[in-house]
Amino acid sequence: MELGKWKELDEKDFLKNFKNEFYLKEGVLYLDGNSLGLLSKRAEKSLLESLNDWKECGIDGWMDGKHPWYTLSEELGKKLSPLIGANPEEVIITGSTTGNLHQLTSTFFKPSGSKTKILADELTFPSDIYALKSQLALRSLDPGQHLIRVKSRDGRMIEEEDIIKAMTDEAALIVLPSVLYRSGQLLDMKRLTDEAHKRGILIGFDLCHSIGAVPHQLSEWNVDFAFWCNYKYLNAGPGSVAGLYINAKHFGKEPGLAGWFGSNKDKQFDMNHDFVAADTAGAFQIGTPHVLSTAPLIGSLEIFEEAGMDRLREKSLNLTRYMMELIETELAGFGFTIGNPRDDIRRGGHVCLEHDEAARICKSLKENGIVPDFRAPNVIRLAPVALYTSFEDVHEAVQRLKKIMGEKQYEKFSNVREVIA
Ligand SMILES: *Cc1c(COP(=O)(O)O)cnc(C)c1O
Repeated sequence: MELGKWKELDEKDFLKNFKNEFYLKEGVLYLDGNSLGLLSKRAEKSLLESLNDWKECGIDGWMDGKHPWYTLSEELGKKLSPLIGANPEEVIITGSTTGNLHQLTSTFFKPSGSKTKILADELTFPSDIYALKSQLALRSLDPGQHLIRVKSRDGRMIEEEDIIKAMTDEAALIVLPSVLYRSGQLLDMKRLTDEAHKRGILIGFDLCHSIGAVPHQLSEWNVDFAFWCNYKYLNAGPGSVAGLYINAKHFGKEPGLAGWFGSNKDKQFDMNHDFVAADTAGAFQIGTPHVLSTAPLIGSLEIFEEAGMDRLREKSLNLTRYMMELIETELAGFGFTIGNPRDDIRRGGHVCLEHDEAARICKSLKENGIVPDFRAPNVIRLAPVALYTSFEDVHEAVQRLKKIMGEKQYEKFSNVREVIA
């Protein structure tokens, strides 16, 4: 492949200026935006404005600040809705990913008769499995019997065929990731939703690894519910408040876990002991919103609105494709395997690079100014995030990795993981 290709790709990149919006470190290539996205100047600004609202307004910040707290979760739900193809009132910013999965399972899992099982997959993120098992246990159902985990054929992907085969009469609820966190496989959400509904099963998706990287059409696909975090591709900061989507056809359903912030907003301060739920996704909130952990999302979503989700996806696919081409030509013979799907329609936002020495190669990458992440036992995840990664960065990252491998620099580290990555 022509080595100077990155120049041409960067020149043609209409999103290249967004890189200036982010706090990047000189000389460091940050390829871990799928674990924790970087801070943008606009997210910093909206956080500081919210802090100032507290400073200036005290209690009146709820209604009168620059970003009034009382309706912030709803306003941000509206702003985020185009990223997932939802109607504005179907989205609310609230809770955490895992907390929202608990809320949604409490609401939508209604075992009855022989329909008592939850369908998931064996490669999904552990927290989702812990939540689903505990939800079964709360209902005195043995998780060993009632949680079905679809098996992977190769340890990397889950075949849609196999998921559909597991949609039996006993399944009441399906919870799947949109993009698998390790291999980056993108599941066909539309097809799975159609097949689930043909069999009378409700279906929801964990969008943590697709939101902000891949466009979705949740309402058109008729997905029942979804949930996600906002700290990965959406760059809202460590532990930032998460989100959930409820299809409008389910409005009016009693939340499994009720709390006063799920109230109809005009009634909330009547302080009545009879709960009057909002007639939107807002009903699924529980307590007072974590305003300061929500505020960075205000600025961050402005950036997504300007960049446009379809353009971000196009660039992301070009970045990961270019990275794979470079890996195949430049790193041939060093023992790497590309573990993510090659097809654009099955690929999320990161490249999954497998190697027996992955743990220590990651340490060596960090020493050389590249931030990847490691997933045991053998995966190096590299996410060239479209908003702040250039094609030159991708080229440079692979060149540095080639040098590490050629000089066996990784051998000075032990092949065991650090606490986080
Ligand atoms: C990051 C991630 C989570 C994290 O859950 P939190 O409750 O935000 O800690 C859950 N599921 C998936 C698929 C993830 O990638």
